[in-house]
Amino acid sequence: MKLNILGCHSATPRTNTNPTSQVLEIKNHMFLIDCGEGTQVQLRRNKIKFSRIKHIFISHLHGDHYFGLIGLVNTFSLLSRETELHIYGPKGLKEVIMLQMKLSKGWTKYPLIFHELTSKHSELIFEDDKVEVHTIPLNHRIYTNGFLFIEKPNDRKLDINAVVEANIDKAYYNKLKQGFDVKNEDGILIDHKKVTWEANPVKSYAFCSDTVYDESIIPLIKNVTVLYHESTFLEKNEALCKETKHSTAKHAATIAKKAEVDTLILGHFSTRYNGYKGFKTEAKAVFNNVLLAKDGISFEF
Ligand SMILES: [Zn+2]
Ligand SMILES: [Zn+2]
Repeated sequence: MKLNILGCHSATPRTNTNPTSQVLEIKNHMFLIDCGEGTQVQLRRNKIKFSRIKHIFISHLHGDHYFGLIGLVNTFSLLSRETELHIYGPKGLKEVIMLQMKLSKGWTKYPLIFHELTSKHSELIFEDDKVEVHTIPLNHRIYTNGFLFIEKPNDRKLDINAVVEANIDKAYYNKLKQGFDVKNEDGILIDHKKVTWEANPVKSYAFCSDTVYDESIIPLIKNVTVLYHESTFLEKNEALCKETKHSTAKHAATIAKKAEVDTLILGHFSTRYNGYKGFKTEAKAVFNNVLLAKDGISFEF
């Protein structure tokens, strides 16, 4: 699992800071999460192939999370894309994008499929044989969802020397990997644990931006491998959280601690601050395993 941070700031784009956008690489998928202004430039800068993006998840309709979407959708057209593009986001997103396309007569030649979200409860919005994606209802000024990406349990790993030694037909290798005992060529039942290794542990990623401090998300993100939680402000500016419905670094760390996650990544920094060390210090006082997002870097888990 690899998380590429394209932008991790709030509000307006600036020379050196980009609004929210990230690409999660999980089980051969490249999921684009939020698409602030300049996302396509950041994708190019980070050498992420446009053609590999087939699913885009938009948290909410504040500009710093989706103003880059029409540009990207249009660029895909100019590049003669034919592959389907699925966009998951709040109701209204389709209307906005379609109106812009209608007025420019810029219809896509590739299938553009919107999955509009309205539920206030967590729901499964994507699933295949390897991954599930659920919404995480957040508490912000407008309708907002975070997203939870969960790998499905991995197969056990085959010990190739052991299966040959045990005289097992190749046709049974998949059964063994799935945890079944099988009979070998001599009719003897072989314990799958003797010829396979433990599967890699299942990983998960929760993206929570934008939101005020809200403990109701904790059961949904319990024990995730990585939590990205917004920390727009420092505690000294906590008064701003109430009206803007954002969180501080301390809030994010408290959620991480209560949800017992492995790693917390802080992001969605207000551009009012010059440096970000204060965010880490503030969060670390509550929860130890804290990383700071930064535009253009990636994390592997
Ligand atoms: Zn925002
Ligand atoms: Zn917002």
